[in-house]
This record gives sequence, structure tokens and C-alpha cells, in this order.
Amino acid sequence: MELTFYGGANEIGGNKIIIQEKDTNIFLDFGISYKKSNEFFEFPLLQPSNIDDLLKTRLIPDLEGLYSYHNYKAEYNKEGPVKIIKKSEDRKYDALLLSHAHMDHYGYIGLLREDIPIYLSEISNKIIELYSRAGRNDFHVKLRHLLFEKLKKNSELQIGDLTVKRYDVDHSILGSSAYFIQGKSSIAYTGDLRLHGKRNYLTEEFLKLIEKEDVEYLLCEGTRLGLSNTEDEKSVEEKALNSESEVKEKCFEIIESEEDLIIYDASQADLDRIEILCEVAKKTGRKLLIDSKKAFLLLYMNDENILVEDLPKIENFSILLGRSKLGTNTKLCKEITEDCPGFYLETFKTGRRYHEKEMLNSDSFVGENFIWGPNLRKEVLSNPNEYIIYTSNGPLLLLHCTRYKESFSGTYIYGKAEPFTEEMEFTFNRLLKWLELYNLKLEYAHTSGHCFPNDIKKAIEMINPKNLIPIHTEHPEEFKKITPKGIKILEPVLYQKLNL
Ligand SMILES: [Zn+2]
Repeated sequence: MELTFYGGANEIGGNKIIIQEKDTNIFLDFGISYKKSNEFFEFPLLQPSNIDDLLKTRLIPDLEGLYSYHNYKAEYNKEGPVKIIKKSEDRKYDALLLSHAHMDHYGYIGLLREDIPIYLSEISNKIIELYSRAGRNDFHVKLRHLLFEKLKKNSELQIGDLTVKRYDVDHSILGSSAYFIQGKSSIAYTGDLRLHGKRNYLTEEFLKLIEKEDVEYLLCEGTRLGLSNTEDEKSVEEKALNSESEVKEKCFEIIESEEDLIIYDASQADLDRIEILCEVAKKTGRKLLIDSKKAFLLLYMNDENILVEDLPKIENFSILLGRSKLGTNTKLCKEITEDCPGFYLETFKTGRRYHEKEMLNSDSFVGENFIWGPNLRKEVLSNPNEYIIYTSNGPLLLLHCTRYKESFSGTYIYGKAEPFTEEMEFTFNRLLKWLELYNLKLEYAHTSGHCFPNDIKKAIEMINPKNLIPIHTEHPEEFKKITPKGIKILEPVLYQKLNL
């Protein structure tokens, strides 16, 4: 058995790990390394636009029989493209096991061949599908051709020479998985997980089951290890609370003593956090407004069958639509702007796209479910103590919520701290400028999606592997402090094979 790391070694995120035994090759995750990507690219003007751009910057490995576009080459003449030449390459990879729907774990799957099955939980599959319906359509996450295979909790599957088992674990996104892979040797893969979240019982159950297995190698995430060594993360990470119930308590305290508006800013896919804010809104007698992408994820998670029992429903909140320009070619716009062509007019329904269009066209919601446009926003801002706005993009919300010379006051609660999530494109410093512009008070109410060092220690002790391989951490050396003496630590090196 061999392991090769094309990401996730000595870095947080970007997991791309191959397990090989005889003729069987399985990938664990296929995510974006934001840190490496930001070394070469910058949003939005300097972005990769095809697989070549990712290969030449070594953001993805150059491997035969893995990518769908590897089979084609374009030919050009002086006038332009002429034809596509097809070569045929055999598939070399048997499967991909996906841990969860965060971009640093799945962001490049759109590049894979259509005949490589992607195994994942039903909820992860749903989240990825909803993201795609909400307009996340970069070439590297295009999903149309992909073969998704949903794996039930604790179910077993034979892939070539390897047996694979999937477990549910708790993380800051629903549907997260850990895996156990058995061949000549055996490997447990934690994915991202925690023991202090709302669904910590899932991680506990996983530990109880994997404890009974003979784990030779444990691929263990260590996101939070050694964090206080890095100055940047210290400020936000040190303010992180110990549990989701502490987040609830703190939000309640802040909101109860605030007489103006509350804006709560949390990572997009963390649906459990919305539930907390729903409860706090109810208790403090405020109405909750949720930005449209978050609301879409929440409301459509259960659209064919119930995947998650206890999610808030539309009765508990209103949907805050983004500011959207009425198209200049529409009849209405032409009529109104006759004397002032180009004038910025907002639209309610006409011309909305993706998830907003889907929700506006749905029979499940009525006009009153939506807050849009200058009038309704002004009504909210003139009764600030009646509302909580829940967003995952604070600067964009602040840009959209007022017109010139309109203002409001209140508290902005920052509820995310995870490094390397997709939302990190909006840097914290930029957010501070926006808060300064509106003179908003800043508070923190967040807990991490990843295990505290003591919980990682507990997990390692329970699993009791023969060898530990640190992944998803910038401080693999920190594992020495928490790993029992008899367990050997093997630090992975990028692009190097580890013979098991
Ligand atoms: Zn994650």
C-alpha cells in the first residue's frame, strides 16, 4: 500500500491524497489549496480559466487517466480554432472519497473524468448540487458530467482491492464524513471534524466504531494545532468560543442589550448556526432576515426528501434578496429612463438569476417572504431594533443596504474564523473599513469547525493507531505533544510517496 500527497500536507485544506494498493487507486478529496492559489492568482482579475492554468501553476497534479479534458487537444490556424483532436487515455483512478462540501476539499472535482465515481454522503451531494444551482459555476466545479454515488452512514463498499467504510462526523457543514479503508494495510481518514459542535454525537459515534477496528495508519486533521503561533489568526481564533451553546448565549447577551440593528456574519454552509440565530431572534422578539444564498441552501436542503430533520422553515424568517439592476433592455426600464438612460433601477423579479429566480418562481413562497429594494430596506433600517440580518458576506450587505446619506447604527457580530474558506476572499481588514464607515460596533460569537487540541488527543487515544499521519495543518510537529508514546508519527511531504 502507498500514500501520495498532492495537497493537505503541511497546509490547511487542499486535500488531494492517493491511496494505492496493487491496481487500485483511490483519491481522498480533491480540494483547492487557497494559500497556494493566492500565490499565483487574485480574485477577480487574475483567475485561472482552464485546466492548463492549474497544471502549469502546480495547483493540481499532472496525472494520467484522471482528468476529463486530458483526452482532448485544440488545433488552431491563423483564423482561429479548427478542430479538437481526441486521444484516448485509460482511466487510472477507481474512485474518489469525498469528506465534505467545503471548497478546500471538493473545489477541483469538476476536472475529473466522468467515469471516476465520487462517493459521498447524501447531504454533501445535496449541498454541492444546491451550490451549483446557486450559480457557483467555475470550470473546476462544473458537475454535469460527474458520477456521484451516495454512501449510507456506516455502509461498506468494495473498490478493487480495497474495502471502504463511510462514517458521519460533525463539522461546520452538514453531511461531513470520515472513512476507513482496508487492504493489506488499513487507513482511517478523519476529514474535518470536531467534538464540540451541535452534532458532536456523530463524531463520538464514529470514534466508538473506529475504536474497534485495527487502524494501522490514521490520517488526522490538525487545523487548530499551534494556531497561537501564527500572529494573523491569533486575533480572531483566540476569540473563538468553546461550543455552539456558548455562541448562542453570547449572541443572546449582545442582542438583548442592543437597541439598534444586529448583523450576524457566518460562513455560508453552516446551517446549524442559522438555527441558533432563529432561536435567539424568537427570544429577543426580533425578526430574522437571511441573505438569499443562505436561505436557498436552508430551504431547499429538504426539497425531495427530509435529509435534515430540525432545520428552520420559511415561517421563521424572511429572505433578503441582493440588490439587482433592472436590465436596460426591459420595457419598463426603457419607459422610465427615457430622459436619463443608464439610470440605476432595481428589480424585484425580472432578470434575477440562479437561486433567487428559483425562489421567486416557487409556489412555496409569497411576495411577503422577500425583502428587496430601497423601500423595504429603509423600513428595516428605520426600525433597527426589530431585526437581525444574517449574512455570509458583510461588506456586500453593507454596500447594498443603504442609499447615499442613509445610515443606521447597531452591532456587527462576526461569526466565522475558519481559515481558508471560500468567503475569505473578503479580507477581515476590508470588513473593518466598512464597519468604520457605518460606525458599527464589532463583537465576536463563533466556535470552530475543527477539534481543539485536547479533543484531537482524545480521538487519537481512542483510535489508537500504529502510525499517525498529520494532515490539514501548518504545524504537524505539534502532534508530538498530544500523541501517546507508542504511536509513530509520519510527517507527509508533498508530491512524495509514503510506503506503508
Ligand atoms: Zn472543512
